[in-house]
Amino acid sequence: MGRKAIPKETQWNVLTEAGFRCSVPTCRGILAIDIHHLVQVSEEGSNEPSNLIALCPTCHALHHRGVIPKSSLFVWKSLLVSLMQAFDKQAIDDLLFLDLSSNDNNEITLNHRTVALSGDGVLKFSRLIASGLVSYSIITNNNWQLVTYTAFLTPKGKNLVSAWKAGDRSILENINTEKQ
Ligand SMILES: [Zn+2]
Repeated sequence: MGRKAIPKETQWNVLTEAGFRCSVPTCRGILAIDIHHLVQVSEEGSNEPSNLIALCPTCHALHHRGVIPKSSLFVWKSLLVSLMQAFDKQAIDDLLFLDLSSNDNNEITLNHRTVALSGDGVLKFSRLIASGLVSYSIITNNNWQLVTYTAFLTPKGKNLVSAWKAGDRSILENINTEKQ
């Protein structure tokens, strides 16, 4: 069986699913994204979107050198599909952002300063909050003169992100049972 080019529309769908970023959650590189066959063409792997994952050239090379195992690629692909069905691209980025920037006191911090959100800012996380992955708290200053909020990952959200980053297969069972 000869190697057929991946149709443009399929490429577009796979790239959109990944938010035009590398599908490796600890990378998320945005330059020059390759499309990798999960099951190789030489092993009868198809050009169906379900068999394709978006990777940056660095992660693609790491995979082919055996540094990134195939099992992790399957987990990341499945999670992107699940998260895109349950949420959207923005929510996926929000989860990773909160994981990067939350301190031990459950506040979003950038350069050690707590980021205060407006009410609209909290609404941005509404779907993640409704799913129990993110929570928020109220920060008041000057005797309730100024009310702002901060958002953070719940223990459930932290578990999801850490298993996601690790490419841990057990996470797939959890996410499928928790999604109604
Ligand atoms: Zn990458």
